[in-house]
Amino acid sequence: MAKTGRKSKSVPVLILLIAALLLVDGSLLLTERKIASLQRSSAELPQKTAALQEKLQEDTLTLQQLQEETEKMDHLDEAAEEKKAEFFQHAKELEDRVRNGESDVKIAYLTFDDGPYRDTTGTFLDILEQYDILATFFYLEKDGRDDLYQRVIDNGHTLANHTASHDLSSGGIYRSVDTFIADVQENRSFIQDRFGYTTTILRFPGGSSQARDLKGPIVERLREIGYGYVDWDTTTGDGRNSGTVDEYIHGVLDVSADYDINVVLMHDYSVNTHIALPTIIEGMQEQGYIFLPLFYDSYKIKK
Ligand SMILES: [Zn+2]
Repeated sequence: MAKTGRKSKSVPVLILLIAALLLVDGSLLLTERKIASLQRSSAELPQKTAALQEKLQEDTLTLQQLQEETEKMDHLDEAAEEKKAEFFQHAKELEDRVRNGESDVKIAYLTFDDGPYRDTTGTFLDILEQYDILATFFYLEKDGRDDLYQRVIDNGHTLANHTASHDLSSGGIYRSVDTFIADVQENRSFIQDRFGYTTTILRFPGGSSQARDLKGPIVERLREIGYGYVDWDTTTGDGRNSGTVDEYIHGVLDVSADYDINVVLMHDYSVNTHIALPTIIEGMQEQGYIFLPLFYDSYKIKK
């Protein structure tokens, strides 16, 4: 046992020695390679530095351009906001004159609920564009219809909140004040986040009377979060989507002559309302109406 032990001891020592030599040699080799590669890369360094400097300069220019463009955009936004504020200031003055009997003009706020609708909303926007009329759209939260929300906004109409879900079931939005407000906030965030548009006007699904005992506390909470609400004065009566074109025309024109300022309720899902709309518009124009989009300070907006 002892003999073999001695022999086997000398073998590992030799192996260790060889290994150590190889290691030194190997690390030398590695070091040489490193130096060579360093030399090569430092030879390319001036060229690389120049390229980097160029790139940095390009980036600086791009950044500068971006900043300038953003500033211009901000100014555009500001200008648009100012223009809008000015427009509504004039609308408010006109409302005051009409209410004080100082003007023969009548004001109509055409409003369209529950959209946007893929098949019909565009046709309503076309008619309004054709008559150069601005209106108000009370919309819900709907996916895959960004282009329609965007067109409403781009065309200059007022986009307003009609809750996210419009859920009138017993477990729905009118279950409690908190449930209702949460639904309103969800739709507000949806519109704000996707389109950068702040809604300030709300229509209760089914009208404010649907809130029953909750109406008072809801209106108070709405006021606190920057909302006013509006019901309506006249309507085509298209809520059940079952009337004829003639019924819708008469629904509005037979009573609208009695108003000075008139909020007209319609739904942009109704094909018959779409067909009736030009006749309603022209009939109201003959009655002395001009058409405006709703705005927060309008006396029609309750707070
Ligand atoms: Zn509705």
